[in-house]
Amino acid sequence: MSQGIKYVSTRGGGEPVSAARAILRGIAEDGGLYVPTSYPRLDGDWMSLAGVGYRKLAAYIMKEYLPDFSEEQLLRCVEAAYDEKFDTPEIAPLTKAAGVYFLELYHGPTLAFKDMALTILPHLLKTAAQISGYDREIVILTATSGDTGKAALEGFAGVEGTKIIVFFPEHGVSKIQKRQMVTQAGDNTYVIGIEGNFDDAQNGVKQLFGDAELRREMAQNAQEFSSANSINVGRLVPQVVYYFSAYLSLLFKGEIKAGEEINFVVPTGNFGNILAGYYAKQMGLPVKKLICASNENNVLYDFFTTGIYDRNRKFVTTMSPSMDILVSSNLERLLYDACDRDPAQVRQLMAGLQKEGRYSLTGAMREKLADFAAGFATEKDTARVIKDVYRRDGYLMDTHTAVAYSVCESYWEKTADATKAVVVSTASPFKFTADVMRSLDEKYGGQDDFSLVREMERLVGFIPAPLRDLEKAPVRHTRVCQVGGMKSVVREILGL
Ligand SMILES: *Cc1c(COP(=O)(O)O)cnc(C)c1O
Repeated sequence: MSQGIKYVSTRGGGEPVSAARAILRGIAEDGGLYVPTSYPRLDGDWMSLAGVGYRKLAAYIMKEYLPDFSEEQLLRCVEAAYDEKFDTPEIAPLTKAAGVYFLELYHGPTLAFKDMALTILPHLLKTAAQISGYDREIVILTATSGDTGKAALEGFAGVEGTKIIVFFPEHGVSKIQKRQMVTQAGDNTYVIGIEGNFDDAQNGVKQLFGDAELRREMAQNAQEFSSANSINVGRLVPQVVYYFSAYLSLLFKGEIKAGEEINFVVPTGNFGNILAGYYAKQMGLPVKKLICASNENNVLYDFFTTGIYDRNRKFVTTMSPSMDILVSSNLERLLYDACDRDPAQVRQLMAGLQKEGRYSLTGAMREKLADFAAGFATEKDTARVIKDVYRRDGYLMDTHTAVAYSVCESYWEKTADATKAVVVSTASPFKFTADVMRSLDEKYGGQDDFSLVREMERLVGFIPAPLRDLEKAPVRHTRVCQVGGMKSVVREILGL
């Protein structure tokens, strides 16, 4: 049924392209995001997939969105991604605690949800290149404030036909984050500290992307930049899978009946994770509400409750930093549906965002968002639920998951909706050790990162392998450069 699926820009420019092209390009040429021309509908049969395992399910679901990939190609991608890098064969296990089900997306190499997509994206890119008869080396260039860079490094390490170059602020990431990056294995990985802050690193990378001379030299050397950022179709599609896997686990364990609707509560930043849940619902997954959880940067809460998106506000630094975002780039894909797939209206909204930092939806558009509910948690709420849930049920949440749990509680109070709820858990508590420990007890305030990891280990009785080995791992990357020196470092790495 999905034979015909192609990808078009939310802003209407260009011709429809194949899935492989959309993945290789990342962003559409008119600055829009690629969306499928229609949503594949699964028939009732997919419920018989309960128990087949994550990888088979992933290949099955992804095939619907990537019809130009063969089943064998997809199986190979899935097997290369979801292997022993994950510390459980379930890949995305579901744990029942504190009145909800936690869908744990943090069992991959960097202990957070980005691994679900970034472990498979390199293989999808490589396969997309084969399908398109594209014989250039794919060069991923990125600036990171810590976490996404490491997840991308892990994903691309050792993948033939690719190189990855990551710049990070030498004095602007945590001790653990820095250690994770400079110990990265893989002959095709390059990690460079820069003497500047994250914005300097990001601006430097943007300039390199836009450098026509550099691009020309690279083309002559059979190389081309590509992007691993969260708007790539190759990151969105793998995320649809775990919404199905969560549902099937509930079914398999007898927690729900076939066809019963459930709610998902999703800690949200760039709107990529929850959008994948929306795509799953469009495919026929029985979902009642997608509950969008924000921290004190509650732009999305205001958007869903008033129909007005307004980024003109103070940016708050919270203990759930991956949700400290004022412009959620993936929201444009939802707007496209809210506008009845009319690119002219999307362009108008996006122009408003560009010029005034805001836009407002019409009543008709708002009606299209009925699948969503929204809430936000303050820093105090977040710390309180970490402590409460741990005391009551012995389940330790990270700060992002705690935002979602708190929003789930306030949703219950407001609506009395008794639908079973899955809280999407986006990071291991070990990833945000200091804030989690301080939420449990103020006495942990101010202690060193590595010693708090050992405290947390004493508390829960284990330590995730990627952290256990970190202190002993050999340092492989020692290069540091000035902001002005980024281009010559890249040219040297690429052999130009
Ligand atoms: C990226 C991230 C999020 C936000 O996900 P989006 O897809 O950007 O909405 C939430 N929690 C953690 C731990 C993350 O790394």
